[in-house]
Formats: sequence, C-alpha cells, structure tokens
Amino acid sequence: MQIDILTLFPQVFPTFISSGILQRAIDRELITVNITNIRDYTHDKHHTVDDSPYGGGAGMVLKPEPIFEAVEAIKPDPADRHKVGEFPVILLTPQGRLFSQQIAQELSVYKHLVLICGHYEGVDERVRQHLATDEISIGDYVLIGGELAAMVVVEAVARLIPGVLGSAASPIDDSHANGLLEYPQYTRPQSYRDWDVPEVLLSGNHGEIARWRREQAIIRTWKRRPDLLDKANLNPAEKQFIKRLETEQAEPT
Ligand code: SAM
Repeated sequence: MQIDILTLFPQVFPTFISSGILQRAIDRELITVNITNIRDYTHDKHHTVDDSPYGGGAGMVLKPEPIFEAVEAIKPDPADRHKVGEFPVILLTPQGRLFSQQIAQELSVYKHLVLICGHYEGVDERVRQHLATDEISIGDYVLIGGELAAMVVVEAVARLIPGVLGSAASPIDDSHANGLLEYPQYTRPQSYRDWDVPEVLLSGNHGEIARWRREQAIIRTWKRRPDLLDKANLNPAEKQFIKRLETEQAEPT
C-alpha cells in the first residue's frame, strides 16, 4: 500500500515511520509512506499556505491551491495502475466520520491512501467539497493539527495489511476486530506476587482455552462496553449466556 501524507509539519513523521513494525513493513515493501510538505506547492516568495477567513473571525485557514496541487502531483506507485480519483483522499478533521476498527479494515484493502493534515482554523471548504473523498475524525475533541490523526490512521490500517504483523492471526482476536474486546492475556511468570495465571491457560487443551477466551471476551465486553454487543457476531448459546449474566446481575445478593 502506498500512503501519501500531506502536511505543513513533515518533520514530525520520520521517527514515527521508523518505529519497529512500520519500518519493517517498509523494508519488506508492504507499505510505502511518502510525506509531502504542502508548502512546497506554493508559488509566492513567502510560501504562503494560509490566509484569514472570509467573513472575519479568529485564526487562519489553509488555502486551497497548494493542497489541490500537492494531491494532483502525487505519483501512484508504478506497480499499481491507480490514478488520482481512484483512491481515497482523506481529509483529517474533527467533523469527519468517527474512526474505528471497521473503517481501518475498510481502508486496508486499498492500494493507495492520501491523508491531508489540516492546521490552524482548518482547511478551505473547497478542499472538502471538491478534493477529499472521505473525512475522518479520530475522536470528539480538537487537536492542533491533523498529524497525530494521520499517524493513528496509518498505524491502525498498516497493521491490518497481510504480512505487516508477524503472525497473520494476530489481528483477528484484537479488541474491536470481531465486535468484542479481547480476552485477558498472561505471560510468564506463572505466579507473580501470589497472583496466578488461570489454570485453563496452562492445560494445553486448545479447545478449552479457546472456549475460555471467547467467554472472557464476552464477559469483558458485557461489563465494559455493552454497547458493542448489539453488533457482535454471537451465536444463540452466547446470547443466552449474556441473558444469564444480566439475570444474575439483577438478582438481589
Ligand atoms: N476549526 C476546526 C473545527 O472546529 O472543525 C478545527 C481545526 S483544528 C484546530 C486544525 C486541524 O487539526 C484540522 O484541520 C484537522 O486536520 C486536525 N484535527 C483536529 N482535531 C481532529 C480530530 N479530532 N480528528 C482528525 N483531525 C483533527
């Protein structure tokens, strides 16, 4: 997958990209990350990227021209034939659709993504209307710029690309991957300060372990994020199990 990030602050990305798993994915040519400085697409001697808002008000707004030109200059990877217009051009904005594991999965099948980081008061509306094909928010809060949001999207999407994580199975049981939070994880030592690892995990019985993990994932989701259960893929026995949990909770002790 080719990922192009357009930003006014290219200097914040190199350390992020060269972190373990992402760097390995780049080395193995599973992903390419290109950072474009929006300022390189200005034509005046001051390299102006922003201007005051029409109608007045505080702050500055990113001008449309450098952003349009930066996106239009993106060269798709010669290995695939995708052209501008055939891949998502994502504007990072607190007004976008709320990012989730499901959206990460949806984006992970593309061969190419373009992420536009805004700054200051935001971006001229014509970028949203005529250039972006998608708008993503990473949460109901306002950041200074879109750089952290771009990093969140890159990490969440990249780890879903086959081969990026060591084991192909590892994203499958992750929290949110199947609508449930993940079961509890333990490692050595077997006993720490008298806190023991659950017996079943030491049993070597893979069927029992899988059953225990599934049950724990359901209990954990029911306790912490019951809102997720409506959309989780549960069989009739598991739905009954949740009913039992609810009944037990409702019973006076
Ligand atoms: N005035 C804008 C508004 O109220 O919608 C907020 C602008 S914010 C200070 C500057 C930039 O940070 C945005 O253009 C966007 O790229 C990025 N940003 C801020 N919060 C974000 C969020 N929750 N998700 C994604 N990007 C965000």
